[in-house]
Amino acid sequence: MSKNLTKREIDYSKWYNELVVKADLAENSAVRGCMVIKPYGYAIWEKMQAQLDKMFKETGHENAYFPLFVPKSLFEAEEKNAEGFAKECAVVTHYRLQNDPDNPGKLRVDPTAKLEEELVVRPTSEAIIWNTYRGWIQSYRDLPLLINQWANVVRWEMRTRLFLRTAEFLWQEGHTAHATKSEAITEAMLMQKVYAEFAEGFMAMPVIKGSKSESERFAGADETFTIEALMQDGKALQAGTSHFLGQNFAKAFDVKYTSKEGKQEYVWATSWGVSTRLIGGLIMTHSDDFGLVLPPKLAPIQVVIVPIYKGDDQLEAISERVEVFVKGLRAKGISVKYDDRDTFRPGAKFAEYELKGVPIRIAIGSRDLENNTIEVARRDTLEKETVSQDAIVDYVSVLLDKIQTNLFDRAVEYRNEHTTEVDTFEEFKQALETKGGFVSAHWDGTAETEEKIKELTKATIRCIPLDGKIEEGKCVFSGQKSSQRVLFAKAY
Ligand code: AMP
Repeated sequence: MSKNLTKREIDYSKWYNELVVKADLAENSAVRGCMVIKPYGYAIWEKMQAQLDKMFKETGHENAYFPLFVPKSLFEAEEKNAEGFAKECAVVTHYRLQNDPDNPGKLRVDPTAKLEEELVVRPTSEAIIWNTYRGWIQSYRDLPLLINQWANVVRWEMRTRLFLRTAEFLWQEGHTAHATKSEAITEAMLMQKVYAEFAEGFMAMPVIKGSKSESERFAGADETFTIEALMQDGKALQAGTSHFLGQNFAKAFDVKYTSKEGKQEYVWATSWGVSTRLIGGLIMTHSDDFGLVLPPKLAPIQVVIVPIYKGDDQLEAISERVEVFVKGLRAKGISVKYDDRDTFRPGAKFAEYELKGVPIRIAIGSRDLENNTIEVARRDTLEKETVSQDAIVDYVSVLLDKIQTNLFDRAVEYRNEHTTEVDTFEEFKQALETKGGFVSAHWDGTAETEEKIKELTKATIRCIPLDGKIEEGKCVFSGQKSSQRVLFAKAY
């Protein structure tokens, strides 16, 4: 099966699209730009959700749910946000269909069932949520308000790609309200940190924490914090964003609180989100020409056991032994699948699990029963080892950690090799053309320079790194003074 995958070096984007479909993660649907997430892909999303949800709750947030539809008058209340998303909005205008008198057997919109007010399908939920918060927040005692919702949103994207950019996507969106500006900024940065910890600790995907330039900012935000990852083809991926919204939404929706001193003050806000795009990032950070490579902490199946046998007697003897391993592994919280299907040969099963990125594959045959051995193959390095059956549970448990670490280290190494500091525009272009990746360069801070560089090279400012050092320099493009390097890259 895996033989059919296009090689990454021949056509990376073809490889990606084929892999998503062949590994059974997702497929295109009848609606352009919308995908069907299949059980194996959804299982990865559920693992991501479970971990993120835990981290959100540990940082004091609660889940709630707000409606899919936003009345147009609410949507347009925060002007910048409305303007930023207007071009991507799906809008509901009618609420009924009827038989079409001109086309028997067909339906049409009932012209008498026109909505009094059009409804925008949420591209993001600030409007509906801040309209609700007005009723929830009266005094400083009601703050901070720390809410998250798991939902789908719709952005009518023109250039779509499975997981990375879809017209409908699944995400979580946090929406918080605070008494002070500094509290809100602290919250936005805290959630950026949570995202970075998730990306690195669970996805084994190294990220750079930074803030966005004004032109890349979320519409309606005063500041956007981002985590940026580098994919294997040298393109960057915005993996998650956290916004400091100032008092923009509080003013648009008239959300005020009475301070301790008895004064009426506008509330300060944040919002933050990660989406099913993370699955695309996971794929493009670790996978290879043979298929998916999943970090153990997010793999729906961590260990698969395949029996090698002839006839029912052998299978029975093997299965009996395997049962002991399965119990031992599950007792350690390891997810194990025993694949004793007799409808596929072991070779086909091996290929399937390779394609699906199962971190560890165990094979056991009759000879192993005699020798008290077992064969363990790791997906990340494709190495095989023969291990004593007595040691198998501990061996696997240690190996899962090793794989998780190895994937992260490999990705960090790739990123380091593909981050280039440049001081002239010639070097800038050369780095982008020969190596791709992040180009670290001085920038004069103007939107004009940013736009020109984008026009000439297709590279955008991915972020202004948070831990970047302050140094005197000259903008690579304009030669104007600059005090900090920023990261440029071509991006998804
Ligand atoms: P935003 O509300 O625009 O800051 O988006 C929050 C996060 O959602 C972004 O950082 C992306 O990772 C992700 N995202 C944005 N647009 C899409 C899309 N069309 N498909 C999938 N994920 C998206």
